[in-house]
Amino acid sequence: MRKVRKGDIVKVIAGNDRGKRGEVMRVLPEKGRIIVKGVNIITKHQRPTARQREGGIIEREGTIHISNVLVICPSCDRPTRVGFEVLETGEKMRKCKQCGETFE
Ligand SMILES: [Zn+2]
Repeated sequence: MRKVRKGDIVKVIAGNDRGKRGEVMRVLPEKGRIIVKGVNIITKHQRPTARQREGGIIEREGTIHISNVLVICPSCDRPTRVGFEVLETGEKMRKCKQCGETFE
């Protein structure tokens, strides 16, 4: 089970975008990296193609390392490290280390 999942809101704690919050758009588990909406924007110069005659500059999010973010807890809205807890039902949940609430 992963600590950070697609759709999570995370807070960036290192790098140029430190302090920003954003939604996780993609998780690249084999690299330990994620793409967060609006974070680590990189610009690419696009050559004109048959379809897009103009070319130009394209902005998109680059990946950042998972260790550079904290998940925002859906219960207490604070950035937290994530633990795990197995419920009586056998379901494994993530757990906020700030408030102790579990979440999927
Ligand atoms: Zn919490």
